[in-house]
Amino acid sequence: MHPWKRIRRLPFYLLVGFCFLLTAWWIYFQVRASHQIEESRLQAVQAHTHEALVDFAPVIRRQTDPTERRVGIDKILVDEYPELELISDAEAGSNEARLAPFLSKEDPLHDLVVRVRPSTIEGIQKDARSTRLMFFTEGGTFLIVLLVGAFLFYRSVSRELALHAQHELFLRSATHELKTPLAALKLGLQSLAQDRMDPERSKGYLELLEGQVDRLEFEIENMLLIAEGREKELEMQPGNPAEDVTAVIDEFAARAQAREVELELSGEGHSLLVMRDPLTFRQTLRNLLDNAIKYSPLGETVRIEIRKQGRQATISIKDAGPGVPHSEREKIFDKFFRGQTGSSDALGGTGLGLFFAAETMQAHRGSIRLEHDDGPGSCFTLTLPLLDSAASEEAR
Ligand code: ADP
Repeated sequence: MHPWKRIRRLPFYLLVGFCFLLTAWWIYFQVRASHQIEESRLQAVQAHTHEALVDFAPVIRRQTDPTERRVGIDKILVDEYPELELISDAEAGSNEARLAPFLSKEDPLHDLVVRVRPSTIEGIQKDARSTRLMFFTEGGTFLIVLLVGAFLFYRSVSRELALHAQHELFLRSATHELKTPLAALKLGLQSLAQDRMDPERSKGYLELLEGQVDRLEFEIENMLLIAEGREKELEMQPGNPAEDVTAVIDEFAARAQAREVELELSGEGHSLLVMRDPLTFRQTLRNLLDNAIKYSPLGETVRIEIRKQGRQATISIKDAGPGVPHSEREKIFDKFFRGQTGSSDALGGTGLGLFFAAETMQAHRGSIRLEHDDGPGSCFTLTLPLLDSAASEEAR
């Protein structure tokens, strides 16, 4: 991964780290609290052994018969202290409450001890364990929710930032794209106004100015069509895509000549019939041809091929330019995206051309794709569904 990308992800990693810390902190405090609760519950039941001894005292004093005494003590245990039991001194540990201080040595109950039932202690410990397990599970869920939230937050912030950066780039490019032909027009008109130019030169000037007007028209058309967006109804008409291609090639003849690029049309398109909206379809072709000429080295050829493939008409526009780098192939159809090749102000562009082309082809139920052969240059292919023969007849 590029180091810059790693740095850009730093806030995300920090956010993830923060989520882990927050969860760990939460689990730690909850588990600590559960240990304290367990401890105090154990101490509380342990204290019952001494309370029970105090309750046994009247029975011991009242009952002289050892059997009756035992019955009285057992009744108190069952009724009021079900968590306690009486055991012999030999089995007891150090913590238990002994009956010895209340009885004479000869008394058969002398060696008895009151203690908390092991099952009560196990119950308290089991409760504490399941509470802790619950905290770990809750902590895990909490962490997952936090991580998903952090991811969504990071993604939306980075999208916003990328969009903002793209808008800035677009504004810069659009200003450049609109101002450059205007400046050239102004300069040309000022030169023509001086009236000292011979007719041959002024004709050349006028052609140049016309080229600038075409350029302005082309960019403004792109922007307006994109601004209208999907709300605009397409006016679908049957037609031969070869006618659209030829018309657009004619429009670009002067521009291609100025860059010494040859436009070569081939293929079997003359009998094809498709449904398309001439306005947006031709603007799509203009965008592709404009890029092919723009990114072609001087003196190269742009090859346009129209073909029938199954039930589809395809139009390929292939140039001998630098091609689209692998890393950009996914992004070139995004709005405002301008790649390495298109980043030079000298070449111009707004990053809208391919976005518009993709939207238009989708609305036509066709497609646009960049062919992935690893040779030099780029080849963009448009596909449109052919009208079947019955529909073609009807359309005619
Ligand atoms: P732009 O106005 O920048 O040409 P596009 O949407 O038409 O905008 O194209 C987007 C990007 O795709 C360009 O900036 C460029 O990097 C790349 N691209 C498009 N067409 C070609 C091509 N024929 N050869 C090389 N790169 C191309």
